[in-house]
Amino acid sequence: MRHFPHARGVTLLPALGAAILILGRLAAAHAAHRAAPLAIAAQPAGRPEPRGDTYDLVIRNGRVMDPESRLDQTGTNVGVLDGRIAVVTREPIHGRHEIDAAGLVVAPGFIDMVSYDPNPVGVWNKIADGVTTNLTLHGGTTDPPVWYGYYGRHPPPVNFGASFFYSVARNELNIPLTAAATDKQILTLTERADRALREGALAVSFSLEYVPGIRREEIVPLMRLAHRYHVPVFFHARYSTMEGPGTNLEALREIIDGCRETGAAAEIEHITSTGGTFSMPQSVAMLEAARTSGLDITADAYPYTYWATYLDSERFAPGWQRRFRITFHDLQIAGSTERLTAESFARYRHEHRIAAAFAIPQADVTRAMETPWIMIASDGILGPTHNNHPRASGTFTRTLSVYVRELKVLSLMDALAKMTIQPARRMEQSSVEFRRKGRLSVGADADIVIFDPARVADRATVEHPEVPAVGMAWVIVNGTVVKTPAGLERTEHPGRPLRGDPAERARLAQNPS
Ligand SMILES: [Zn+2]
Repeated sequence: MRHFPHARGVTLLPALGAAILILGRLAAAHAAHRAAPLAIAAQPAGRPEPRGDTYDLVIRNGRVMDPESRLDQTGTNVGVLDGRIAVVTREPIHGRHEIDAAGLVVAPGFIDMVSYDPNPVGVWNKIADGVTTNLTLHGGTTDPPVWYGYYGRHPPPVNFGASFFYSVARNELNIPLTAAATDKQILTLTERADRALREGALAVSFSLEYVPGIRREEIVPLMRLAHRYHVPVFFHARYSTMEGPGTNLEALREIIDGCRETGAAAEIEHITSTGGTFSMPQSVAMLEAARTSGLDITADAYPYTYWATYLDSERFAPGWQRRFRITFHDLQIAGSTERLTAESFARYRHEHRIAAAFAIPQADVTRAMETPWIMIASDGILGPTHNNHPRASGTFTRTLSVYVRELKVLSLMDALAKMTIQPARRMEQSSVEFRRKGRLSVGADADIVIFDPARVADRATVEHPEVPAVGMAWVIVNGTVVKTPAGLERTEHPGRPLRGDPAERARLAQNPS
């Protein structure tokens, strides 16, 4: 929404572990001899790999769930080697470190596409929520080398990547939010986007509601460019209610028409708050028809019946009460229990505060959760001042606790798919690295969550958006444990950059499909 931006112990296999620690991989040949013969047929996901007792990490006896293959199998072991998943098997395996996952689900780490820069405070709440990849695709950068350079020098615990953010590019040219860009400015902006996509940006992102001056003439050239570079275009759509002027359906029509005209793929961000509020059945039907006609359009949502944004944003332009069917009292200042009045609204507006707006019908959220191509994404990351919506800390665990466990709106497997394989597929044309994300199978990056499906839950509230989720027993990023049942491993920063490959992009640009 913002426009800018139980423990089960680790077992160190005593004698064997020590020997392997000393001998390292040299022990592999001997170990293979010592290990019992392993049946290839017992390996459920992927090709057989050489095995032994030399895995870096073994997750033992878990309920392994892989939304790509739909594998859902208890009593299964996962072996990790060099940051990748090396084996998934029911045969006994051993590693230097072992996690007993009996009674727990072992699944791919979650990919949060609609997030913001991975600041050192918010990333740890992401980890507690099961997020192993945090993408700045609502927002982003105009200068990928600088952005990736910074996070490369200050790596977060999560994997990271960013889009080319059109709003900032426009600001850099001093174009007022409500003014149209000139033809010359459009040319400059398109060139900047072209450079950013060659330099590794994963997508192009627009926040149309917040920058109402953006016209079709500005959007279409960038959508063409995105199509040429095989990256999706992320939209915070132009309108967010069913009151004119401008409705959800008009906002979706604009995006659908753009996709049809340019061939670009599009992601509609947080459709429950922008593009679908009060109109979810019609909005879903309209997008469904566009998808059936061959357009590559997907959407995402967070599992809350309230949105939040800055009080001084365009969203609170005069008439917001009518548009959102709410009053001052339906607004609550983030980090407090305070509901607003006309007087306090005016005051907080000047303080650039975020307010939660209790304005999303439950039926709209439920409908979004039921829709197979609507994924889970947070639209938030906690910052140092905690001035945020609880979605920053609880989006993924709340989906599992409320929409899977309590309301039974979707199965655990379907929910996991919306958090893992579906976002990975959304992004895998941007970067081949996503072909190793969102999967729990041999060859995939070892981004793994291990949790109790009966206990996992969000704890963050509007008053306390900073309270971390519970129930994610273990979180592993690129093979490194960043959370144990005892807490966060704050000294670990195994996150890696995810960016488009310029050479691959150039090849694609020369041979457009
Ligand atoms: Zn937004």
